[in-house]
Amino acid sequence: MRRGVGRVEVLFLVDGEGRILWSDASGSPVALPDSRARWEAIWQHREALAEIVHSHPVGPLAFSSEDEATMEALSSALGRAPLFSVVAPGGMVRRVAGVDVRVEEEPWWAALLRQASGMGL
Ligand SMILES: [Zn+2]
Repeated sequence: MRRGVGRVEVLFLVDGEGRILWSDASGSPVALPDSRARWEAIWQHREALAEIVHSHPVGPLAFSSEDEATMEALSSALGRAPLFSVVAPGGMVRRVAGVDVRVEEEPWWAALLRQASGMGL
C-alpha cells in the first residue's frame, strides 16, 4: 500500500470558543487546492473566525510554501491575521504573531481533524 492512501487534507474554520464553523476536504494527502466555496465561507464567517487549521496527514509538521501564499492572501483580504495551524501525525504547529509555535496542549478538534484526515489508518 502506498504511503498516504486513504488520507486527505482537511481544513476547519474555528471560532474563538473552539467551535468548528466550516470544514472541507481535498482528495489528496498533500494538497488542498484553493476553492471558491472555502473563500466564501471564510468571508461569511470573517467576524467570528479565530483560527484556520488544516491537516498534513503525511506531514510535514510545518507550513508549505503554498500555505505561506494562502496565509498572506487571507490576512490581506481579511485585514487581520487569524491564527493559522497545521496538524500532522506527530503534533500541531500554530503561527502566532509571525512565529511558529509547537502546540503542546492541542484543542479538542485536533483529534477530530486527524480522524477526518485518515491519520492512523
Ligand atoms: Zn498545508
